[in-house]
Amino acid sequence: MDAQQLHDHITKLEERVRRSSQKSQFGNSDILVLAVSKTRPPEDIRAAHAAGLSHFGENYLQEALPKVEALSDLDLTWHFIGPLQSNKTRAVAEHFDWVHSVDREKIARRLSEQRPAGMPPLNICLQVNVSGEATKSGVAPDALADLATAVQDLPGITLRGLMAIPAPAQEEQAQRRPYRALREAFEALRASCPGIDTLSMGMSADLEAAIAEGATLVRVGTDLFGPRSR
Ligand SMILES: *Cc1c(COP(=O)(O)O)cnc(C)c1O
Repeated sequence: MDAQQLHDHITKLEERVRRSSQKSQFGNSDILVLAVSKTRPPEDIRAAHAAGLSHFGENYLQEALPKVEALSDLDLTWHFIGPLQSNKTRAVAEHFDWVHSVDREKIARRLSEQRPAGMPPLNICLQVNVSGEATKSGVAPDALADLATAVQDLPGITLRGLMAIPAPAQEEQAQRRPYRALREAFEALRASCPGIDTLSMGMSADLEAAIAEGATLVRVGTDLFGPRSR
């Protein structure tokens, strides 16, 4: 994609984020834009970095590893945001800075054990299934507290917060409902995990709703890089 177009998309996106956070009662002034770069070639990531972005999100390990390698000359922060099977944890622990999709103790334990000594702790968000049956990934809300307790003191990882991917909805009120549930779960969890600071919620189509409910990090692909074929 051409550099001018990307620049325009970033400017527009930052304006949306700024306006939404001014309107929000939570008023987070430093919302992080995570550029979701799945399916995009390394050149697009290079261009986005040149335009000022430094956090990138990938869903598929096989696709991500060559990109991480190809871009190792840049100072990028890599976030793993896709479903994570236990046979993939080692490569994620070795090559990423964040994982947003931890929803089982077993996965957290493996990431903890496999994080190489000498690297800073891997930042972890617990993915919560706030839409009930609509999505299969994520810990059930009533099992969240136990999962957080089980992972929060593991070495090699730092529990940073919560993430959700709700079922798509059109109306802003319907979009806000699951994000409100996630924020409330986050606030409740803070009593036992005072260090958590990250609410990873909101994508291209609903980031206004997520920011209205207190998002600190939005994950945006389409509205930065254009539509994807998958
Ligand atoms: C693809 C993806 C996004 C970005 O979605 P867009 O609608 O393209 O902004 C965000 N989060 C996750 C987990 C994704 O898989």
